[in-house]
Amino acid sequence: MPELPEVENVKLSLSSQGYVGQQFSKIELLRKDLRVPFPRGLSKRMAGELLIAIHRRAKYLLFETEHFYLLSHLGMTGSWRSFDQALKHDHVILHFTSGYRLVFNDPRRFGLLDVIAKEQLAKSRWLKHLGVEPLSAEFNSEYIFAKTRRLKVPIKGWLMDQRRVVGVGNIYASEALFAAKVKPTRPAGKITRAEADALVVEIRRILQEAIEAGGSTIRDYRNSHGAEGNFQKRFLVYDRAGEACPRCGARLRSKVIAGRNTFWCAHCQV
Ligand SMILES: [Zn+2]
Repeated sequence: MPELPEVENVKLSLSSQGYVGQQFSKIELLRKDLRVPFPRGLSKRMAGELLIAIHRRAKYLLFETEHFYLLSHLGMTGSWRSFDQALKHDHVILHFTSGYRLVFNDPRRFGLLDVIAKEQLAKSRWLKHLGVEPLSAEFNSEYIFAKTRRLKVPIKGWLMDQRRVVGVGNIYASEALFAAKVKPTRPAGKITRAEADALVVEIRRILQEAIEAGGSTIRDYRNSHGAEGNFQKRFLVYDRAGEACPRCGARLRSKVIAGRNTFWCAHCQV
């Protein structure tokens, strides 16, 4: 499943391909739904709208126009590409008056497309529960420290809770906790201020490195140029149970925590 760095890459890639500044002519829907039905009157509402910018919020892409946000989630296998030839699993084609076409392909159809009136964005059912962006100034050690006092939930679970901070998925949480030398099972309320500082620094660094590396190709993710990301080659603990810790040489452990495989070094993470 694409995580924040992959979605950020899709945003950067699409933003550089000349679509921004173009006017929508229609939206062609090749089926009735993806994860949920497509909104009624989608094409009619978007026709004539100018694409002002492409944003990312958590793992959603937001195509901003004068009156709307066209919201897209890639689900498990979704991808956007410039239309050259029709492919199996193409479900949506955005047509621009210039003749440019942008197509959404999604073999497993867990993706999502919705349209939100601009003033309704914060109240949108997809976005209203989301916590702070990890690369924003709002995500800082004061925030982690203040929000975790007295909590018994493992810090890894807290970091992965999208209501607290978005986009820190399983891989990035494991890697950041290793880098910050914090054991994933530690109760969130026991995190010290210095550890909160280290977690913020490491989460930002790891996400930024993953963005620069083009994301992590796991299963079906490709960016919109069809290229594979290569950040997965840099994982230090994720999926390395039984291997030597790259810092101290102890054997790395793994355990399922809150339904997700978790990897850590019991010697240097406390
Ligand atoms: Zn170690």
